[in-house]
Amino acid sequence: MIFADLWEDLKPYGRTDSGFRRYTWTRSDEQCRKWFIDQAELRGLAVETDRNGNLWAWWDVAQDVTQGAPRRNAVVTGSHLDSVPDGGAFDGPLGVVSALAAIDLLRDRGVTPQRPVAVTVFVEEEGARFGLACLGSRLLAGVVGPDRARELTDDAGVSYADAMAGAGLDPAGIGPDEDLLGSIDAFVELHIEQGRALAVIEPEGCAIGLAEGIWPHGRWRLDFTGMADHAGTARFADRKDPMLPFAATVLAARKAAEQRGALATFGKVIAEPGGVNGVSAAVHAWLDARAADEETLSETVSTVRSDGMRFSAEHGVTLSMRQESATPVVSFDPRLRERISAVLGAEVPVLPTGAGHDAGVLAARVPTAMLFVRNPTGVSHSPAEHADLADCEAGVRALAAVIEELACR
Ligand SMILES: [Zn+2]
Repeated sequence: MIFADLWEDLKPYGRTDSGFRRYTWTRSDEQCRKWFIDQAELRGLAVETDRNGNLWAWWDVAQDVTQGAPRRNAVVTGSHLDSVPDGGAFDGPLGVVSALAAIDLLRDRGVTPQRPVAVTVFVEEEGARFGLACLGSRLLAGVVGPDRARELTDDAGVSYADAMAGAGLDPAGIGPDEDLLGSIDAFVELHIEQGRALAVIEPEGCAIGLAEGIWPHGRWRLDFTGMADHAGTARFADRKDPMLPFAATVLAARKAAEQRGALATFGKVIAEPGGVNGVSAAVHAWLDARAADEETLSETVSTVRSDGMRFSAEHGVTLSMRQESATPVVSFDPRLRERISAVLGAEVPVLPTGAGHDAGVLAARVPTAMLFVRNPTGVSHSPAEHADLADCEAGVRALAAVIEELACR
C-alpha cells in the first residue's frame, strides 16, 4: 500500500474538532494500536507486544523463524501513535506509517532482509496522560522503575497500572527487557521536524535531515513570594508584588537564552490567590530551558536565577528556584550516522534538535539515529503541524534505503 492510503486510513482515530487526542490506554489509543496490528498482520509481519505494552511487528529472516532461534542483530524502526492534547497528525504516526510503507517499498523491489527488521510503536511517548514522556521506551531501557510507572496517575486519578490493566495488559510485568534490547543492533526513528531548520536551508530547503543529537534540557520551578494586598488602596511604594520580578525574569530569561543561542520558555504560571483586584501573594512559574550543550544550559539558567534574585530583592519579594527534571545531552551514534549519510547522500543535512524522543532514550543502549521530514511552518504539537505529501514520500524512500543498507546486505 502506498503512503498516502495508509496515512488516510489511520487519520480518523482520536480525531476531534480541535486536533488529535490519542491518550495512552484510552479507546482512541486502542483503535490506533489495533490499526497497527491489522496492518502488520496484513503484511505477514509477526506482531508481538512486549512486557511494557510496546508493539513490535517483525519482518523476520526466514532461517530465524524456521529454526525458532532468538532474534539477533535486529534493525528496528518506528515511533509512537499517542498524541499531546489537541495534537497534530504527524508527531509519532509519521514514523510508524513511513516504516510500514518502507517495508512495502522494499518488498515491491524484491529486497529481503538478511537480519530481522521490526517496526515498533512505543507507549505513552508524549506523557500526555501520565505526565512522564517516553514512558514505554524508558521502561524498556530501565530508565524508569516499574513501581514508579505503575503509580503514575492521570488527571482523573486513574493509576497507570489500572489503565494498562483496563486495556487488557498486565501491569505486573512491566520493566526493563534486556533480552529484547540485546537483540537490537540499530534503531532508526523517522519523525516530523519540530522546527524550521530544514525549511530555511538555502536555496529551497531540504525534504529530509539527519539528527546529530538532542539538546540537554530541563525544567525549573520558580516561586516568587510577596504579600497579598488591595489593588485599589495599597500604594506602589508599600507593595511586595511578586508579579513584577516574575515579569522581569521572563524577559531576562529570553535575553539570557538569546545571547547564547539557547531556548528558555515560561509556559506555565500560577498567580496566588489569583484575584483580579488584588496584588498576588505568590507567583509560581515553570521554566523550560534547552541549549546545545550542558555548559551553555547551566550558564543560561544561572543567569536567569541571579537576575530573578536581583529583581525579587528590588521588590521585597523572595525567590526560590529548584530543578524539577533534567535530561542530559543525547549524541546519536556517529558511525551509524555516517553510514546513513553515505546512503542518503551528503546533501542531507545533519541537525541538532531541542525535542525529546524515544530515540533519545534508546540511544543510551543501542546505536540510534533519527531522520527528520521537513515541516514548512515548523509548528508542532498543534493541529497546524504539517508535512507535504511529497516530503513524506521522500521520507519513506530514505527510510527504505536505510533499512536496506542496515538489514538487507
Ligand atoms: Zn514524537
